[in-house]
Amino acid sequence: MSAVPLRNNKAAPAVRSVTVLGATGSIGDSTMDLLRASKDRYRVEALTANTNVQALASLAREFGARFVAVADPDRLQELKDALAGTRTECGAGESAVIEAAARPADWVMAAVSGAAGLKPALAAVDRGATVALANKECLVCAGDFFMQRATKAGACILPADSEHNALFQALSSGNREELVRVIITASGGPFRTWSSADIEQATLAQALKHPNWSMGQKITIDSASMMNKGLEVIEAACLFGLTAEEIDVLVHPQSIIHGMVEFSDRSVVAQLGAPDMRTPIAHCLGWPDRIVGPAAKLDLAKIGQLTFEAPDFERFPGLKLAYEALRTGRGATTVYNAANEVAVAAFIAGKIRFGAIARLVEATLEAWIRSGNLAPLTSADDAIAVDHNARNKAVTLLPQIALKAS
Ligand code: NAD
Ligand code: MG
Repeated sequence: MSAVPLRNNKAAPAVRSVTVLGATGSIGDSTMDLLRASKDRYRVEALTANTNVQALASLAREFGARFVAVADPDRLQELKDALAGTRTECGAGESAVIEAAARPADWVMAAVSGAAGLKPALAAVDRGATVALANKECLVCAGDFFMQRATKAGACILPADSEHNALFQALSSGNREELVRVIITASGGPFRTWSSADIEQATLAQALKHPNWSMGQKITIDSASMMNKGLEVIEAACLFGLTAEEIDVLVHPQSIIHGMVEFSDRSVVAQLGAPDMRTPIAHCLGWPDRIVGPAAKLDLAKIGQLTFEAPDFERFPGLKLAYEALRTGRGATTVYNAANEVAVAAFIAGKIRFGAIARLVEATLEAWIRSGNLAPLTSADDAIAVDHNARNKAVTLLPQIALKAS
């Protein structure tokens, strides 16, 4: 049985205890917004953040959280001071974030940014929790292993990423044997119509101007490079057990259709909605029922036109590399994600041009394959070791990539 439930066959408890990993981020914010609207239905067990102690403490006070954890180990006292006079327990460091995930909550939102979210997400998975998964990098880093572990532990993984949530909803129209392919849509990002030469020189401010979605910094840059869509292709493969050939990407600049599933009779079932992450998160929060969502009602007459384009693998090589990594397997998707995280951080720090992000990922993948390091991942420690080594490799390749013009 798959850890992603394909039918609504689980009864939801009346009052749910919830934990939000990455509560101070963009997805965390949308999740807290939904919880705020129905405070009588949810009790907050734990909340976590990376460094923003004040925002974390303010959420903990508002929701009466039992436990809060800040990833920065040096901020424990600051957190305790900010929560003085409350009954909220405080922790700091990676182990405290893992503890937050391991505490008994019915429903966990995994919304840490990057592969740093892998260990906490696994802690929730291992106790058989229902995990709404936004943190795609942790899935891409661990590969099939993450879902195998979830199945073994009896955890229920609810896809929170908008495209995968759309597929999750559409997939229940048929069974695995009837499925032909899934289609995930992409807005195309701010550089959809730009030439390769202009994309090469794009600035941080330009990369951060997403046309449709308001999101955290890393995913916004990934959307501009279409690395985000690459990560999402791999995410879809892991979540739903699909091959690279069964996953198509379609550029759809309006971001109204989020995902589609084609079945053997040629029916294509799509999920639509305004580009607002509170809709897929509400679907995960209410599952297996539906709750009232706060997003704007979809007015297709007002929108007028939905348009579509094939993705351009030449101008957005990061997307092509994702398919290559997925076909290669054996840790290649871990390397793809790790190198991209290094490249995005280097771009933000002004060390490389925008166009060099994909070149660094390509060079790291090539070096990894050449060195004969490909091997199946059999544990979380395997994935974490590959992630660590790939990051080191990417860092050593950075100077030559930074110097090389396109
Ligand atoms: P964000 O940067 O706004 O927030 C990230 C959260 O994780 C923050 O609370 C931060 O404090 C915490 N965090 C960061 N590094 C950490 C670390 N090392 N240890 C512990 N906590 C850490 O990011 P976001 O946009 O909310 O995205 C979160 C995840 O959800 C990402 O994996 C992203 O790809 C995915 N996602 C986001 C959106 C969106 O609309 N923002 C949509 C789909 C998927
Ligand atoms: Mg998405």
